[in-house]
Amino acid sequence: MIHEYAGIKTELEDRICPHCHKPMEPWLAPPGSGWGVLMVCFNNDCPHYKGSDHEIANKRDDSRLGCRYAENPDNNYTPFNLVAVCL
Ligand SMILES: [Zn+2]
Repeated sequence: MIHEYAGIKTELEDRICPHCHKPMEPWLAPPGSGWGVLMVCFNNDCPHYKGSDHEIANKRDDSRLGCRYAENPDNNYTPFNLVAVCL
């Protein structure tokens, strides 16, 4: 797929989340993060995402942080946990 944002086109592989088998979506990381476009699983029912709240150290009970499954196209689609606020 081609992801276009702010005039910058990025060619991305179609990626499927290995945890929930849903298509992952391109997501432009915030400036200063050191990342470009990432592939992220935004499925709120993803088992990886749902199970993530136990893995975050020092997580406050009222925080809504979770870890979404993500891959970095700039790094051979290496998987990592993207800490994100639940929407
Ligand atoms: Zn998933």
